[in-house]
Amino acid sequence: MRKNDPVKTQASCADDFDPGTLSAEQAEQRIAALVRPIGGFEIVDVRSALNRTLAQDVVSGINVPSRTNSAMDGYAVRSSDLPLEGATSTLKVIGTAWAGRPLDGSVQKDQCARIMTGAKMPEGTDTVIMQEQVDSDDHTIRIGPGHRPGQNVRQAGEDLAIGQLAVPAGKRLTPAELGLLASLGIAEVKVMRRLRVAFFSTGDELCSVGDKLAEGDIYDSNRYTLYGMLKRLDIEVIDMGVVGDQRDAIAAAFQQASGMADVLITTGGVSVGAADFVKETLNRLGSVDFWKLAIKPGRPLAFGSIGKALFFGLPGNPVAVMVTFYQLVQPALRRMMGQTDYRPARLRVPCQSRLRKKPGRMEFQRGVLEIGEQGGVSVTLSGAQGSGILSSMSNANCFIILPTESGTVEPGDEVYVEPFEGLV
Ligand code: AMP
Ligand code: MG
Repeated sequence: MRKNDPVKTQASCADDFDPGTLSAEQAEQRIAALVRPIGGFEIVDVRSALNRTLAQDVVSGINVPSRTNSAMDGYAVRSSDLPLEGATSTLKVIGTAWAGRPLDGSVQKDQCARIMTGAKMPEGTDTVIMQEQVDSDDHTIRIGPGHRPGQNVRQAGEDLAIGQLAVPAGKRLTPAELGLLASLGIAEVKVMRRLRVAFFSTGDELCSVGDKLAEGDIYDSNRYTLYGMLKRLDIEVIDMGVVGDQRDAIAAAFQQASGMADVLITTGGVSVGAADFVKETLNRLGSVDFWKLAIKPGRPLAFGSIGKALFFGLPGNPVAVMVTFYQLVQPALRRMMGQTDYRPARLRVPCQSRLRKKPGRMEFQRGVLEIGEQGGVSVTLSGAQGSGILSSMSNANCFIILPTESGTVEPGDEVYVEPFEGLV
């Protein structure tokens, strides 16, 4: 190396185009190719099944509703007794049908029955007139024209018919499914066992909450964001704390984690500045690739397996951890949990901020989606966009996704956003 030689540089995370990198889609495909649903099921009661993944199709064993019934409070009539245009009908009231207490006997021509919402339709009737739409005294009602045969009636099985697929296997169970299962009289369901994920942070500068911060140290925040993101997926978490940048400690932690978890996630120590022994240790203990991703933030990522555990080595920077988790780790975890219905929503909306960007990498900037006075939706930047600035992540409610080839976005341009609410 001579004093006047030009300085030779290598591709780095400051470059925006590097041919040795993987796009987000390529990384997602490589991960998907290696990820399989975990085996193992559990039978749990319906309430405990909230947020779990259904392991087996649930087929309806009954009709819901079980009987044809009234959707209104009013009078159950025979449609053949409805008056013609310009006429009225007078019908004799022969009794009352209550919800849970059906009418005894059947309704004949020129007769009707008072009926309550949810009551079984009396024999002979097929139509309900709302009580507000009749003239009534104690024993008779008068109906005008304009009623439709069959109106205000819920047919047996119109929600779910016997033999119909009620909830498919692979569905993450939400409050609606809990109610649906209960409406079928089902008390217990078969769900996938919980996924177990172990994680630890690497870095000699990291200090755990509760410890005194030494000069130059920082508190470890990644274990907290990871805890939150995993818990919201109803995953069993094993927090292994902070592991310093030492060969033996790292090797021991990897070995311990691979024996007890389905997945191991680490943060930090995967960039070029990291001690080489991380790479070496991972190659010795398992099969791990180190990738450079063409995304911002979150360029370095390690992926592979250690023992039986799948391994994700995420970058150290707090925002990069969240971006790589949501974009690459979460879809893989959901697949392992057996979920087949996960599709994050991406919307196209006008952007009110200027977003500086150079072509070459896909960017996940943090934004605030707002609803204007006219009901239109637009997005603004949530604050400073450094990969260590968690506050702009906290202030945001969506990612603004700028494709690889996109340059700077001017106010008024349309962009894709991914709302955070859709990410859970
Ligand atoms: P590294 O990839 O290990 O070089 O880390 C990149 C940056 O992220 C450094 O500024 C680290 O101090 C920071 N960092 C790494 N791990 C954590 C963590 N667990 N919590 C907060 N910051 C972290
Ligand atoms: Mg580090």
